[in-house]
Amino acid sequence: MESESEKAVLLDISGVLLNGDQVIPGAVEALALLEQKHIPYRLVTNTSRKTRDMMVDTLAKVGVHVDRRQIFTAPLAARTFARWKGLKTWCLVHPDLLPDLDNVPPEEADAVIVGDAASGFNYENLNQAFRLLLEGAALVAIGHNRYFKENGEFYLDAGPFINALEYSADRRAIVAGKPAAAFFESVASDLQMEPESCWMVGDDIFGDVQGAIDVGMQACLVQTGKYREGDESKLDAHYELESDVLAAVQRILEI
Ligand SMILES: [Mg+2]
Repeated sequence: MESESEKAVLLDISGVLLNGDQVIPGAVEALALLEQKHIPYRLVTNTSRKTRDMMVDTLAKVGVHVDRRQIFTAPLAARTFARWKGLKTWCLVHPDLLPDLDNVPPEEADAVIVGDAASGFNYENLNQAFRLLLEGAALVAIGHNRYFKENGEFYLDAGPFINALEYSADRRAIVAGKPAAAFFESVASDLQMEPESCWMVGDDIFGDVQGAIDVGMQACLVQTGKYREGDESKLDAHYELESDVLAAVQRILEI
């Protein structure tokens, strides 16, 4: 049924539908509009502090009801990649995330998965990851975001720590989440749509908008979440700019 629609929409969760655990005004109406118009959609996220099931619960608490299969998370993309490559992974991630990953002790690992580990980014753990990389382990980054905003505060995301590991071990990370092309392409494939027919709605000019445009999708930047005035001048490409997710969905339906 889904392939009968001419377009599909990918909606970022953090900063587009939710600010922290609070729903952003218009989010429920935006999804209702997509349902009403029979536009297939997926909710995508690089948030690496929650499993897919936790995300379903978080959304349901604020009135956003979705099937778990409509949620695409970067940690699941990292696990899929590692399984496909046959890698045994030691995970430097937030403990809440472990149910969605395969975690082995460091001495058995031939890959390190790094996500937003919060206080887990201590000297001991970063050194453990660094030593595994020196021994030849692969470095898989769940995401490479610089920072995120939650409940009004800015926080360092995993990107700065991944850069430290890359720099020290002279290695490059394989990025599983946004803005990796493989992430956007696998969501399009799940929607049974070509990337050209997909719209990405996000609050991150690089992670969402540029990543989507790079695989041929169309994109809309919203002025909620981590958006800061002037972000739109950071990317020289064609995309839409709207105040929030409801305005974005209305615009996409018009085009
Ligand atoms: Mg976001």
